[in-house]
Amino acid sequence: MQTETTENRRLEPGKLVLASHNKGKLREIQEMLAPHGFEVLSAGDLNLPEPVEDGDTFEANAAIKALASAKATGLPALSDDSGVCVNGLGGDPGIYSARWAGPGKDFGVAMQAVHDKLVEAGTADRSAYFVAVLCLAWPDGHVQFYRGEIHGELAWPPRGPEGFGYDPMFVPEGFDKTFGEMDKQEKHITKDGKALSHRARAFVKFQEECLPK
Ligand code: IMP
Repeated sequence: MQTETTENRRLEPGKLVLASHNKGKLREIQEMLAPHGFEVLSAGDLNLPEPVEDGDTFEANAAIKALASAKATGLPALSDDSGVCVNGLGGDPGIYSARWAGPGKDFGVAMQAVHDKLVEAGTADRSAYFVAVLCLAWPDGHVQFYRGEIHGELAWPPRGPEGFGYDPMFVPEGFDKTFGEMDKQEKHITKDGKALSHRARAFVKFQEECLPK
């Protein structure tokens, strides 16, 4: 439902809806937005229903979520669709990363499933990458996308109490700790000030194009 407007737009200071019900993602994006002076409202706080994510790409699912919130509230809305793609599993779980945790949203179950399927596949390839696509949607239907990726290797058993989702089994390239063993600062920003996590890399692109200068 894109309008004819194709030019990307910059946000004015004011209200911004975070179109997510995932606590881990909300916390990370809220922290990234904190220095920029928005009044951030989450879809959960506004009692917005969770739309069915039936797209077949990260971009399509990010647009479904952001458009649902933008249209329901009349405010610009930012969503994140993300997941882990495992090369030895043909890119799975990918857009189905949340579903692999089952109805109980148990990521111990999801990580075990990834490990078991790699063992079943009999592959030594444990390379994987996280993807995050941020979508900024406007009430008139205009959407803009920002994608970040981080490549690395899967560890077993999972290590570390930090982060959420698949963090305890993901070791980013150039590091020997999992995201689950990194504090939030380390997960997102390297010592020399560069974005590290997929979400931080997507956020930098979003920031350059959309946040007030
Ligand atoms: P969705 O974007 O709401 O469909 O869910 C994405 C799923 O991917 C999350 O529930 C997590 O399991 C996983 N995921 C996305 N980003 C991260 C991350 O930064 N760390 C760990 N898991 C993540």
